[in-house]
Amino acid sequence: MKTDHEKMPILGMTYDEVLELFRSRCGRGKYHAGALYREIFQRGSGNWASAPEFVNSPKLVPDIQRDFDFHADPVIETRQSGDGTTKFVSRISDGARIESVIIPAEGRVTLCLSSQVGCRMGCIFCRTGKMGLVRNLTPSEIMGQVHRARFDFGVPVRNIVFMGMGEPFDNFDNVMQAVRVLSEDRGFNIARRRITLSTAGRIDGIQRLSRMTGLRPQLAVSLNAGNDALRSSLMPINRTMPLARLQAALIDYPLERGEAILLEYILLKGINDRREDARAVAEFAAPLRAKVNLIPYNPGADSGHDPGKRDVRSSDVKNSGQEEKHLVPPSASDTDRFCGYLVDEKVFVRRRSSRGKGVMAACGQLGSPPV
Ligand code: SF4
Repeated sequence: MKTDHEKMPILGMTYDEVLELFRSRCGRGKYHAGALYREIFQRGSGNWASAPEFVNSPKLVPDIQRDFDFHADPVIETRQSGDGTTKFVSRISDGARIESVIIPAEGRVTLCLSSQVGCRMGCIFCRTGKMGLVRNLTPSEIMGQVHRARFDFGVPVRNIVFMGMGEPFDNFDNVMQAVRVLSEDRGFNIARRRITLSTAGRIDGIQRLSRMTGLRPQLAVSLNAGNDALRSSLMPINRTMPLARLQAALIDYPLERGEAILLEYILLKGINDRREDARAVAEFAAPLRAKVNLIPYNPGADSGHDPGKRDVRSSDVKNSGQEEKHLVPPSASDTDRFCGYLVDEKVFVRRRSSRGKGVMAACGQLGSPPV
């Protein structure tokens, strides 16, 4: 907590942090701190000063305005909807743009958040990866996406997934602060088991998360291949953090009763869709309590996807960089077939539809890479 008179962005603060600031700077306590937190996080009120607690203490208002930053970054620039999902592109204070996706399903609303502007991981199936890393988002910029969804779109967000732009473990401290604020019962009150952090496989991040006390968010790992040669060709992180070390970190990862690690598998036609690929996934998952989410690949708008192109095999995607134009989405029957291979291998698999394709809101489609 800073002690000078720099304004603190309230959207990135827990209730206890707001209370501490109230005590140290304003000489007030729970009554007013609780009222301010309620107005901002439960009512989305830009007009908090008209709440009775502050109308009755008018001298307090300028102190609060001096100490707290209420500016709610990001500002929504565009919104697009398709097949029930809504993608919104927002601008943050330095002009950078980030993307978030609202996904309603079965009476619940899931919000997919960005944790960084761009990403340095360079996964070849991902538009964000083509941008490179621009910078980390602050806790209030991460929370600002939730605030926008909740109060600009009026959406009762129930689940949070960090599967938008960025590798959450590259921005560990800020993401975990956002998780604390998200689960604040005086605020959005989103249970930690309803918050999912999805990593490309940063082993140090997984280990750091595993050492945390208290309830942890759900862990998802973007797997996409069960052998090192293929995974390294799709995801450069695998060259320094290969599958055996990743598997060992996941074996050691503490799980609550009934909890499982999610292994995400983006199915790429002709690349990771063979029976032997399913076998490799089964071998990786065997010592883990894990579920596989099978997601058909979505070509980006600039992917040059041509359904008539030949299939490519792993040898074609080695030395990644320019290869997304060769990536081909699987047909429904391709996905069915691979799902069957996994079932044959006794893998617990759930087939996920790629919602939001029409608005570039689906898995791997976020971001604006340079052309
Ligand atoms: S898939 Fe995730 S980790 Fe990989 S480049 Fe895209 S945003 Fe980064």
